[in-house]
Amino acid sequence: MNYVINCVIRVFLLLIIIQNNALSNEEKLKKILDTMESRYEMISNELGNSYWDLYTNSENVNLNTPKQKFKILLMNDTLNSLIYNWQGKIELIKDGLLAKRVETWYRILQMAKVEYDDEIMQLRNELEHKLKVSNEELFDEESLEHLMIKLAKLRNRKSIELGYDNYVELTFEVNGLGYDWFTNFVDSMYLLTDKDYTKLVNNTKHKKDIETFAYSDFNELFLLFYNSNNPDKVKANNIDMVKETLNNIGFEFDSLPALLIEKQLPAGIGGQGLMINIPNEFKAVITNGLDIHIWMHEMGHGLQGLFCDINYPILEGYEWVPGSGATCFAEGMAETSAYFTRNFEWQVKYTNQDRKLIFEKKQEAKNNSTAFIRYWLYKSMREVEFYLNPDKSYQLIQEELMRKYLLVDNEFKYEPIASMRYVSYPLYLQNYLIADMIACQVHASLENIFGHNYCFNKKVKSYLVKNFYSTGEYYNWKERLEKGTGSKLKIKSYLNHYEINCD
Ligand SMILES: [Zn+2]
Repeated sequence: MNYVINCVIRVFLLLIIIQNNALSNEEKLKKILDTMESRYEMISNELGNSYWDLYTNSENVNLNTPKQKFKILLMNDTLNSLIYNWQGKIELIKDGLLAKRVETWYRILQMAKVEYDDEIMQLRNELEHKLKVSNEELFDEESLEHLMIKLAKLRNRKSIELGYDNYVELTFEVNGLGYDWFTNFVDSMYLLTDKDYTKLVNNTKHKKDIETFAYSDFNELFLLFYNSNNPDKVKANNIDMVKETLNNIGFEFDSLPALLIEKQLPAGIGGQGLMINIPNEFKAVITNGLDIHIWMHEMGHGLQGLFCDINYPILEGYEWVPGSGATCFAEGMAETSAYFTRNFEWQVKYTNQDRKLIFEKKQEAKNNSTAFIRYWLYKSMREVEFYLNPDKSYQLIQEELMRKYLLVDNEFKYEPIASMRYVSYPLYLQNYLIADMIACQVHASLENIFGHNYCFNKKVKSYLVKNFYSTGEYYNWKERLEKGTGSKLKIKSYLNHYEINCD
């Protein structure tokens, strides 16, 4: 009997020792992460300010120093072995927040091994520099194309070293979408829009009395959607409209540490909303003459950061290192904000259009909505295809995908492979389609909860903050969407919203 009791006590003591060890290890881990994250946040703030300089005061810009600091931090051996070690036994971490911090660090460090690799970083910097001044035609397209292909191949090679099939697979695992989810998503959207989009193209051909469908024909449909989907003839200036729209749903703009300014930005850049310090400082610059929905989009990025209440920098969603957050959800929150200006009652109040005209325009947007969906499928898939087949002619990739997704079979429109987007924001474009779907779903929930006039209900603020902003990146994007709207991304409801016949 004594022997048995002795054994039980020994096992019990052993368990306490193991548990204490585990606890103290967790404590140690926490301490190291606290230090690393305060460093991470300081560099993020510095880089945010440098980008602000880039867009507003190009005389005095230093992007290189903060980028080098990031490189040193993210390549730190101690940090890497600590995170890789804990990621391998993540289920042992009892504190959910701590586990999430490790997981996020892991994703960031994986991606950093690619993007902060010496050769890749150098090539990125070179391309960014050359593309910025390419307007002056100092660099010929062929040499830029050659560099871009080299960058794609290097990104692929590094991803393979990390155990992925290619850079696309790595990126989609890190950005929270998942590669399988994404490919299924694209296939479904393609099939579900097939009937309506084919009909739209055939009707256009019939109306115009043309045999073939050119890219310019497609572009007209896309513009019909875009122009009728966004508000027109808004009564007040943009900044006043932002203030009033936010105020109507409970956000007091004047009390927010937010700055919005208008300035001429380089070609191709519409607006840049920068969370310099989360949750304490947001700044946005929007190029001259853009519409209110762009202002509200940038402000939406600000709201997400300004109402983040998580206090662990790695979970706050700083945008500077890939892997730090779900980019589709960040764009979804920006579009959720822009969507207020697409609301029927908002337009009745703030535009010089009567109900009948607004209704007709909404109908026009619906009629052409498949062109918008197909456009983003085409744009995202052509970049994916480029990474999957970097040796294939990019012109041929574009042509094949224009045929498939846009049904264009004549007068194709080709774009150069080397672009700032592909260099600095690789594999990002699908986010704009998913963002429209997230915004649509959130607004359907808002209408459900707060009624038809929800754009003028101050309780909307606490709904948005509680469900989507306050917990930062602690929950993944699917969980956040489900928390706020009661379900995952609803493809069919989205298609129904635009009255797309997908049966
Ligand atoms: Zn955005």
